[in-house]
Amino acid sequence: MKYINFEEASDAVSDEIYMKEALKEAHKALEQGEVPIGAVIVSNGRVIGRGHNLTERLNDVTAHAEMQAFTAAANYVGGKYLHNCTLYVTIEPCVMCAGAAYWTQITRIVFGARDEKRGFSNLGYSNVLHPKTTLMRGVLEVECAGLITSFFRNKRIK
Ligand SMILES: [Zn+2]
Repeated sequence: MKYINFEEASDAVSDEIYMKEALKEAHKALEQGEVPIGAVIVSNGRVIGRGHNLTERLNDVTAHAEMQAFTAAANYVGGKYLHNCTLYVTIEPCVMCAGAAYWTQITRIVFGARDEKRGFSNLGYSNVLHPKTTLMRGVLEVECAGLITSFFRNKRIK
């Protein structure tokens, strides 16, 4: 499998700060009974878009955290492209969200935990991202994965 533009750790401290913001969004999803995935988009040190998974509430399979965050950020910048922006998302984007990221031409994607089943890289679509987009993984991986794992464990108990 080929990964494009994987970064070495760049600014680990600020990456963790923003991933914590994405985790806050994931907790909002959890409180609403949604699969707990959260995302924020950061530009020049400022959060310009937030989103959490809303597929149940909206009856919309496209209402993933990343999609909400892309829309919010595009509204903020007043344009469809997210140049000089970083997407922080707690779980590896699916093919749909990675495809949407392509269209935004976002500069950087940072995700927490891998999604072994539906993550875009696992499906062999590692070239789905825009050639200019760099990718970083594993930021607060344990926290991001733990939220999902306990969500599905609790679901099975109920
Ligand atoms: Zn998605």
